[in-house]
Amino acid sequence: MNERPVNFSAGPAILPLEVLEEASRSVVALEGVGLSILEISHRSPPFEAIIAAAREGIRTALEVPDTHDVLFLQGGARAQFAQVPLNFLRSGTSAAYVNTGAWSAYAVEEAARLGTAADVASGESSAFSRLPDVSDLRFGADTAYVHTTSNNTIYGTQWQELPDFGETPHVCDMSSDIFSRPVDVSRFKLIYAGAQKNAGPAGVTLVIVDKAWMAQAREDIPAIWRYATHAAKDSMYNTPPTFPIYVVGLVTQWIERQGGVERIAENNERKAGLIYDAIAASAVWECAVEEPSHQSRMNVAWRTRDPELAPRFVAEAAQAGLSGLKGHRKVGGLRASIYNAMPLSGVEKLANFMDQFARRNS
Ligand SMILES: *Cc1c(COP(=O)(O)O)cnc(C)c1O
Repeated sequence: MNERPVNFSAGPAILPLEVLEEASRSVVALEGVGLSILEISHRSPPFEAIIAAAREGIRTALEVPDTHDVLFLQGGARAQFAQVPLNFLRSGTSAAYVNTGAWSAYAVEEAARLGTAADVASGESSAFSRLPDVSDLRFGADTAYVHTTSNNTIYGTQWQELPDFGETPHVCDMSSDIFSRPVDVSRFKLIYAGAQKNAGPAGVTLVIVDKAWMAQAREDIPAIWRYATHAAKDSMYNTPPTFPIYVVGLVTQWIERQGGVERIAENNERKAGLIYDAIAASAVWECAVEEPSHQSRMNVAWRTRDPELAPRFVAEAAQAGLSGLKGHRKVGGLRASIYNAMPLSGVEKLANFMDQFARRNS
């Protein structure tokens, strides 16, 4: 095979090569089964073992306590924007959203179609280059839940420590940083993540939900939208996305071989540090997120002070085998998504290329 470009895509995103290789073999024939992962029944013993292993892999990686269920759903994170309020936003209650950029804004919009939902804090005044201060927020018993987004894929901000809202149920969209660091799952009533950023291929959404909270959810909604329906059927109420679930299982095994999410978090710190250092090293660049404690370890967003340099950087980087560095169309500029599967060597290659480019253009 020709040398693969280093893949900085925001999502669907990089997967470990050894996962791709094993998955590609299983597309032809699963070991010990002889048939493709794509052509076996979800009710067959081999697939039952696969989904159980994937669930266990997630439980191990995040030390998910017995109080919480792990579900494999569909419709991406966007379906969760609707499913959370469908289940938990009742009349007479309201949902509180912390707006840290595009995805949180879509989430509150969807909730507001179903009930009372509003932003209680927003980074909008800083064009989402900073996380809002949430230390003074207090909620009453009529707050159904508070919703946060742990990592803001588009703007490049990330909560290094997620806020604590005490007794108020906390729901968190972890689509772009799940498995990137340890999480105290017991602090959350519900965590969801579209798999395609840091956990596997597109097509499956991971949901970790507090069982007692799930039991209090609305029952007067279609069965397909109730979390309890899927939990009761071990995520096989309808035909689950078998292949994405299989690959998520491989990713959790890979995480374990790396030494777990703690070791991965250390690597992620080092990787992000190299790029933030490269940005700080030259006046050609300008970091999109100035406050170091708000800077994402997953998606580094930056600009060229001369806007005309950005497209040239993207084109020349692609020539050098560095793919996917264009910023999101909402913010422009540049973005390097450096999820778990990005090796240190890939980040070093980018940092070196940035240094050379800056020297040539300053
Ligand atoms: C990508 C992303 C989404 C959207 O995910 P879909 O699976 O396409 O619905 C939502 N939230 C965050 C934080 C994301 O990064």
